[in-house]
Amino acid sequence: MTTTITHWLDGAPYAGASGNVADVTNPATGVVTGQVALASVEDAQRVIGSAAAAAETWRNTSIARRTQVIFTFRELLNARKEELAQLITAEHGKVHSDALGEIARGQEVVEFACGIAHLLKGGHSENASTGLDVHSKLDPVGVVGIISPFNFPAMVPMWFFPVAIAAGNAVIVKPSEKDPSASLFMAQLWKEAGLPAGIFNVLQGDKVAVDALLQSPEVAAISFVGSTPIAQYVYEEASKHGKRVQALGGAKNHMVVLPDADLDLAADAAVNAGYGSAGERCMAISVLVAVEPIADDLIARIADRTRTLLVGDGSKTRTEQGGREADMGPLVTKAHRDKVASFIDSGEKAGAKVVIDGRDVQPRGEADGFWLGPTLFDNVTTDMDMYTEEIFGPVLSVVRVQSYAEAIELINANQYGNGTAIFTNDGGAARRFENDVQVGMIGINVPIPVPVAYYSFGGWKKSLFGDSHAYGPHGVHFFTRTKAVTTRWIDPANRPEGGLELGFPQNV
Ligand code: NAD
Repeated sequence: MTTTITHWLDGAPYAGASGNVADVTNPATGVVTGQVALASVEDAQRVIGSAAAAAETWRNTSIARRTQVIFTFRELLNARKEELAQLITAEHGKVHSDALGEIARGQEVVEFACGIAHLLKGGHSENASTGLDVHSKLDPVGVVGIISPFNFPAMVPMWFFPVAIAAGNAVIVKPSEKDPSASLFMAQLWKEAGLPAGIFNVLQGDKVAVDALLQSPEVAAISFVGSTPIAQYVYEEASKHGKRVQALGGAKNHMVVLPDADLDLAADAAVNAGYGSAGERCMAISVLVAVEPIADDLIARIADRTRTLLVGDGSKTRTEQGGREADMGPLVTKAHRDKVASFIDSGEKAGAKVVIDGRDVQPRGEADGFWLGPTLFDNVTTDMDMYTEEIFGPVLSVVRVQSYAEAIELINANQYGNGTAIFTNDGGAARRFENDVQVGMIGINVPIPVPVAYYSFGGWKKSLFGDSHAYGPHGVHFFTRTKAVTTRWIDPANRPEGGLELGFPQNV
C-alpha cells in the first residue's frame, strides 16, 4: 500500500493536474512507499498565484499577530517531533535520533523568528537636517521560493521559512523528490497554528517545478540548497530573471589535527562527523588532515572506534536490533549508494590504502536496503577523484601532511569552502587558523560547526553563490527590503520661508 504525496495549496493538499508522479522509497528496505506528485508549469503557476495573493494580506498583518502564529507553530513542532522524525527516517534513512537532531536545529531558527519584532525595527534619526527626520523600515519582499535537498528534509526548509514568514512574506517550499513528506507535515502544522491559507505552500516536483519558480515574475527571492552545479544554475537563472538569490552548494570539509591535540577526542570527533547520517551532510568531515608525526596513532584510534559502529534500519527499536539503536542508516537511493561505492573502488585503484572497507556491510535480514558501511582510507593524495570530488557518503579520507602550513594550503586550494575544523590545545595556532582559512564556518575542537540560529550559516567559494548566508541576521536582511523615509512636518509656530531653489538639496 503506497501513499500519495501531494502539493499544498491554499491551506490544503492539492493533487495537481499534471498526472506525473515519482516513486518514494524506504532506503532501509528498498520498498516503494509512496508516489509524489510532480508539478507541471500550470500547477506551479497556481501555487505561485495563491502565494502572491495571500502575501498582500500577510504583509499588512500586525507583527504581534504574525509572531503569535510562529510561537504556536513552535509549540506544535515540538509536540509532534516524534512523528516528523519517523517520516524523515522512513524516506531519508537516517536514524531516529539523527532525525530528531535536525528537527531540533530547525526549531532553533523558528525560535529565532519568534523574536522578529526586535529584528524588524528600523532606524530613526530625529532632526537629521533642520526640521527633517529620517527613518528606515523593512518591508517583506513578497513571494519566496525555497528549494531544498534530500539530506535535511525538515531542517533546511526551516533555515529559511520561519524568518521569511515572520518578516511578512509568503513561501513556496520545493522539497527533494526523494523525501517530500516532511514539508507536507509542516504545512499541516502551520495550518493548525493559524497561519492564513496561501502563506506556506508546498510545490512538489523536479526541474519543471524549480524552473517555474526561477522564471516567474511573481517570485521575488529564491533560497536554494543542493549540489554545486545546480546551485550555480539556480543562481544564474534566478538572477537573470531579476530575483534576489542565495544558493548554497556542495562541500568538502577538512579537519586538521595538530600533533598536540587530544587524540582520543579528535578520533571521536572524526568518527561522529565523518559517519553520522552516513556522511550525507554538507558539514560532514570528509578529509582528515593529520599533521605528522601523529597519523599512525590517530588512524588506529579512529579505526578502533569505526569497527564498533552498528549500521541498520534507523526506524527499528533497540530491542529489535539486539539492544542497541543503529548508529548509521542506509544511503538515500541505490544509485547514490553505488556512486559512493564507485569512489571507494577508484580510490583503491589509485593507490590509497583501505583501512576499513564498508562495501560489503549489510545488516542481517535487510537484503534490499541501500547499505554501505563506514569506510576509512589512509594515504589519500590530492590528485585522486575521491579527494577532489564531493562523495557525500560514509567515506573518511586521511591525508598526511608534514606541517600546519601544508594543511592550510590544502584547505585553501580546495574549490569548496563550507566548513572546516582544527583540533589542537594551542590557542595561538587555533587563532591563526581562523584567520588563515578561506572557509565560511570554522570549528575549534568542534567538528560540525553549524552556527547557532542567531548567527548565519554559509560557506565560501563554490559552497555558496550569492551574498547572503542562511538564517540569523543575513536571513532577516535577505527576506526584507529596506526603505529610507525622509520626513518634514511643518512646525506651525515656525513656518519655513519656502521659495524656489533648484540646486541639489543639502543638509543643514
Ligand atoms: P541536488 O542538487 O540534486 O538537488 C537539490 C534540489 O534541486 C532538489 O530539490 C532537486 O529537486 C532540485 N534539482 C535537481 N536537479 C535539478 C535541475 N537540473 N534543475 C533544477 N533543479 C534541480 O542535491 P541533493 O542530492 O538533493 O542534495 C545533496 C547536495 O546538497 C550535496 O551536494 C550537499 O553538499 C548539498 N547540501 C549543501 C548544503 C549547504 O548548506 N551548503 C546543505 C545541505 C546539502
